[in-house]
Amino acid sequence: MRKSKSVKRRSVGQYKNLKCQNSDLDTSKYAKFAPIDGPCTEVVNVPEEVERVLCFKCTSRSASGK
Ligand SMILES: [Zn+2]
Repeated sequence: MRKSKSVKRRSVGQYKNLKCQNSDLDTSKYAKFAPIDGPCTEVVNVPEEVERVLCFKCTSRSASGK
């Protein structure tokens, strides 16, 4: 996907707020790390090119293996 052109686009990328991918458990690859009581509601500020993000809460759950 990524082309190795050395042409710089914008020097500073745009950021956006993206919901944790565990807000939609049907499409999340990490649904098993979602909160026990339902879909995750965390929002994470990420670079615009990021399409999926896992919030720190779900990340820490995945890291702890619980
Ligand atoms: Zn989350």
